[in-house]
Parts: sequence; C-alpha cells; structure tokens
Amino acid sequence: MIPFLDFKDLNAPYKKKLMNAISAVIDSGWYILGPHVSKFEKEFSEYCGVKHVIGTGNGLDALTLIFRAYKELGILKEGDEVLVPANTYIASILAITENRLKPVLVEPDILTYNIDPKLLEKNITKKTKAIMVVHLYGQVGYSDAMQKIADKHGLKIIEDCAQAHGAMYKGRKTGNLGDAAGFSFYPSKNLGGLGDGGAATTNDAKLADMIRALRNYGSHKKYYNQYQGVNSRLDELQAAVLSVKLQYLDKENKQRRAIAKTYLTKIKNPKLALPQPSDLSHVWHLFVLRTKNRDTFHQYLRDCGIDSVIHYPLPPHKQEAYKEWNKKIYPITEEIHATVNSLPLHPAMTKAHINKVIKACNSYVG
Ligand SMILES: *Cc1c(COP(=O)(O)O)cnc(C)c1O
Repeated sequence: MIPFLDFKDLNAPYKKKLMNAISAVIDSGWYILGPHVSKFEKEFSEYCGVKHVIGTGNGLDALTLIFRAYKELGILKEGDEVLVPANTYIASILAITENRLKPVLVEPDILTYNIDPKLLEKNITKKTKAIMVVHLYGQVGYSDAMQKIADKHGLKIIEDCAQAHGAMYKGRKTGNLGDAAGFSFYPSKNLGGLGDGGAATTNDAKLADMIRALRNYGSHKKYYNQYQGVNSRLDELQAAVLSVKLQYLDKENKQRRAIAKTYLTKIKNPKLALPQPSDLSHVWHLFVLRTKNRDTFHQYLRDCGIDSVIHYPLPPHKQEAYKEWNKKIYPITEEIHATVNSLPLHPAMTKAHINKVIKACNSYVG
C-alpha cells in the first residue's frame, strides 16, 4: 500500500540533526519559553519577512489569539463579522466563534478552492471588521483586489497560513501579506514538528505584544497579569525541531512542486478534474482533484494499493458543532466537498510511487 503520508518517512532524513537538537534542549534544562523558542521565532520572522513571530501551542491557538488580541486592543468587539471561506477546515471558523465574533461564510472559487474575491463586497455589512483568508491546500488566497476591498471598508486581513508555509504572492511570503497570520506546525504541515506547535506573525508591534502576553497567562512580567490570558506556548523541544526543519522547507516545497508538475502533466483522464494553480508559488500542501463519483474513485485507488484522503468530507456549515447553519445552502462548497479527493504528495515519495499513482489515475474508467 502506498501510504497517503507517513510521518516517520518525512522526518527520517533529518533524524540525526533532530536528535542532536532535542538532546541540546534536554541538556539546557530550560524547557518553556527559552532560547530555542526565541531563536526559532527570529528565524521564522526572517523567513517570512515579517517583524514579529510569536510561538503558540498550535495553529488554532495562534488564530484564536490574534482575534482575542484585537479584542483586547479595542479593534474588534463581540458580534463583529468576519468573512471566511465556507469550505475551509473548521479550525479557521473555531478561532472566530471562540471569540464571540460572527463568521460570515463566503463561497470559494471552484477552480482555486479559495475564497471568491468577487463575492467579498456583497457580504460586507456595517458590522464587518475583518477578512480571514485561508491559503487552502497551499495556494495563496490573498490578492491586490482583496487588499483594495479591505482598505476601502477598513477591514483587517487575517491569514490562515496553516497549509501554506513558504507560498508567495508577488515576492512576499504568506504570513506577511495581511495584518496578522496564524501558522500551524502540526506534523503533516509543510513545516511540521514532532507534535503540536503554531505561531502568529504580524508587523504590528502592539498586536504582537498583546499576543505575547495572552499566550502566557496574560502576563508580560512573571506573576504580574494584565489580561485574562491562556497558556499556549510553543515549547523548547518543538522550537528546536522546527529550527532544523525550517532549513529544508524551501527544498521540500520545491520537491512538492516537482511532484505536482509531474501529476499535472502526466495524469490525463477526462473523468478527473485536476487542480489549476493560478501561479507557480503554490506549495502543494495537498494535491486535490475533483471527480464525479468520488467514493468510487477513492475505493478504486485503494484497490490499486494507493491510500488517498478526502479533504474534507463535511463542510463547516454541515457540522453538528454549527447546528444553526445546517439548513443553509452553499452550493459551490457542497459540490467541492462531494467531489474532492487528495492524491498522495509529499517530499518523501519515491519515483515508483509517483508513477504508480499516475498509472492508476490514467487507467480509471469510473
Ligand atoms: C491544520 C490547520 C489549522 C489548525 O492547526 P492546528 O495546529 O492543528 O491547531 C487551521 N487551519 C487550517 C486551514 C489547517 O489546515
């Protein structure tokens, strides 16, 4: 069986360096908010070209704390509306509702899977205060057109970069496109740790300061608490691991692009609608195609010895967690969720595996 993803294979090439990094943390005797977190925050800020990086416990917390910090600063308040793509992974939306802000679901463009910029303005009301742009599957969702709309209506742009480490728009990296951004370092992400981890990025010093306090019990100075914060810190071990892995992010993204290019040129089957990247900066967190009888295709791949995954089977508005939206209809989002299937694509894939996937796709008759 060709696995969809094997975390062990992803980390095997770096095992020696990772062991050394972990060993250094153990020997340092400093495990929370120490030199390794500071070092990684600095390295990642240089990588993204952004002034401030604040490590957090995971990606969801990074996003949640951005909204929370805007509330503490008086820039957002309960009930404010945030435009968010209707087809995103649910974490984007949880970060909004956790802060008692109101997500306004906006349909995506079926070709890019990203929020449809043409639909933004008609969803803006007096209460709209932000756009959450999700660079879904590794493709940038931000654009000059979006920035223009945000500027015109005085909206913040918050990026969900959990699937797009290193992706670029006109020479600028994700994490440095909007007003603030949240990253996840969950093991499967383009930059993945050996456990949970996340980071918020911003060029806004006040926002950065606030997030820094909020992630640490609402405290800037130990035992003195200005805010009712949370405990969500990137730990020293994960930071040390991420410093190693960051060195290989561009190389791995390049490998992902090469595999995607091979799929895009060699898979030729009218039954399969391949993704259509709008530019070359796509970092291919996932290679998501669409097909009419998706479950048949999914099972066919299994029978061929290929594990594929559906990202995602149920859209946020159909989830039990958001019962109040269950009767709403988002046709494009629902069409996407009914037809998508992700092929295996990761830096540890062998040529033989890639060729087997292509052969299986080309032999599919539906
Ligand atoms: C993974 C992911 C998150 C959440 O990150 P965690 O580190 O798992 O909390 C948020 N948004 C998107 C789009 C993701 O893919």
